[in-house]
Amino acid sequence: MASRRQRAARADPGAQLAEYRGKRDFSRTAEPAGGAARSSPPGRGLQFVIQKHAATHLHFDLRLELDGVMKSWAVPRGPSADPADKRLAMQVEDHPLEYNTFEGTIPKGEYGGGTVMLWDRGTYTADEAGPRADPEQVLRAGYLAGRLRVTFRGERMRGAWTLVRTDSGGKPKWLLIKHRDEHARRGGDLAAEHGTSVATGRTMVEITTARDRVWRSGRGTAEDVPPLPVGDVIRPMLPQAVRKLPAERFVYEAWPGGERLLADAVPGAAALLDERGRDRSAAFPELADALARLAERTGTPFVLDGEVAGAGQGARLIVLDLLLRGSESLLARGWRDRRRVLESLFERRRVPGVRLTPAGADADALLQRAAREGWSGIFGRDPAAPYRPGKRTAEWVRLAIPARYR
Ligand code: MN
Repeated sequence: MASRRQRAARADPGAQLAEYRGKRDFSRTAEPAGGAARSSPPGRGLQFVIQKHAATHLHFDLRLELDGVMKSWAVPRGPSADPADKRLAMQVEDHPLEYNTFEGTIPKGEYGGGTVMLWDRGTYTADEAGPRADPEQVLRAGYLAGRLRVTFRGERMRGAWTLVRTDSGGKPKWLLIKHRDEHARRGGDLAAEHGTSVATGRTMVEITTARDRVWRSGRGTAEDVPPLPVGDVIRPMLPQAVRKLPAERFVYEAWPGGERLLADAVPGAAALLDERGRDRSAAFPELADALARLAERTGTPFVLDGEVAGAGQGARLIVLDLLLRGSESLLARGWRDRRRVLESLFERRRVPGVRLTPAGADADALLQRAAREGWSGIFGRDPAAPYRPGKRTAEWVRLAIPARYR
């Protein structure tokens, strides 16, 4: 039990949360401002959570209750149950206790914008606290000294771990290391083994598309809404059917003639959505998997527009366009610009079953190729035109293969 004097000596949680609050606009994000939740009663163990967070880069946020706030670390690769597999943990600002129940979406453009999953939760205790010691005092001393030895009682985090500081500075670096105990496993990459929420059983994509915790102000104007939140229902731009290509200088692309789908990917998870926003991922699991891994490798969410040709294992996604990469919407940019970013996303990366649609300035050559390869025809695009969701304009046309090419 902590004495009254020890409790009075604690830092004021309000002051500790100043950095947390300074980074956020609580009229826009559903994250808690903090200050309402009470510390855990003494003797019951302190709370811990790990949140999987698909922001600009995917990471896991480890949070340990201490002195009325959640001490926090961003762990890029998440925890491992293998004692040989030390994981980098970057110390970040203290979070409020109410953050422990947060799962949902932080709006794009806000601090930490992206999807947050409750990946694990439970209690933890200090290993070095004797029967008479105040456990928080032991932890506080360890935290200041840069060496915390703790035991987790979570659903996925079990047993003893050490957090050791290797570098102090503006953002101190620590290592998160599993102890050799009955919960240690060689190659036991916990972060890779568990892909769902411990609270709701949902995947990252399911949380992203649920939109239950997304900020909806009801006060703001349309301009306040981020232009393209990941997971929002976006209607694909539509091509105008023509019998003759326009005279303007267009660029031309293959029109495969498959099922039109938008691919919404965050690191570790992806969904293929049809033109009405219905999830078609179950029909193309290999493609969804390949895109999830691409987002994982690049560490960024993205939204692609494309057509799926073929079925089952033979299904191929032919990518036509890129609507979002990282936290940046590309809708307002011209096609040539979007294509450049799209090519950089796929550059030197093998993504099984996925390829970019062939594009070029020579319509005749592309039509001959379309006839040979069995495409439906070609698209013509104004290279400067933005992406207009749900719109059909003369900036993007489609031409079926004329009889003379067959
Ligand atoms: Mn984070």
